[in-house]
Amino acid sequence: MKKIIIGNWKMYGDPAMAAALAQSIVKNTAGKANNAQVVICPPAILLPHVAPHLSGSTIKLGGQDCHIQPDGAYTGDISALMLKQAGCTHVLVGHSERRKFHHEQDIDVRHKAARAVKTGLIPVICIGESEEERKAGKTKDILAQQIRECIPEEAIQGDFILAYEPVWAIGSGKTPTMGDISDIHAYIISLAARRTGMDSASIPVIYGGSVKADNAREIMAAEAVSGVLVGGASLKAEEFCRIVAAAT
Ligand code: PEP
Repeated sequence: MKKIIIGNWKMYGDPAMAAALAQSIVKNTAGKANNAQVVICPPAILLPHVAPHLSGSTIKLGGQDCHIQPDGAYTGDISALMLKQAGCTHVLVGHSERRKFHHEQDIDVRHKAARAVKTGLIPVICIGESEEERKAGKTKDILAQQIRECIPEEAIQGDFILAYEPVWAIGSGKTPTMGDISDIHAYIISLAARRTGMDSASIPVIYGGSVKADNAREIMAAEAVSGVLVGGASLKAEEFCRIVAAAT
């Protein structure tokens, strides 16, 4: 399986910056990204400024969220189909910032992932424990619940990616030990295999939370890690390209 490297630009950028960053990533990873499937997820309004620069490259485009309904009176929301029509192949669902600031629950995440699959997008289902839950020794219980609740029937035997993102590691500069990452990923894979009936080897689980050029190689080499979800460091072309290079 190729390593999966996803860049989440969050709510950063403008048209000129988005085009320049996309061009730079394409140029600097050309011919070097054979061992990786790279996906970049700009803010929805910047997708048309990024998509033309990816055509002819192996880099794919993703959304950061989608609505559970195909369309309707949902002011300010974006449908999975709109993302697809803008050139996306992937969409993040259940990112901890969506859970925190938009009060999304596991059931919302499941419906969003289901909508993505029905629309022909690959959902990147984000799960992970908070600092409080970790300190209380509840990490595995929380992950078990999220896996049970967030993977929709529609994704079973289909294409989906799980992203393990401990909330306390996002944007904090802190990461779990490599041993902990491998242990948690193996646990996630075994539960997801049980939940879906899929072969463990075909369930990609990527790690997210303070991934940088300096730790990407070690994280991607860790047992049971299929790739990385990168936030802050995906906004710097040189740093992101070094992360892609670390997959080789
Ligand atoms: C993220 O936004 O998914 C993320 C992992 O952020 P960062 O890499 O900045 O911790």
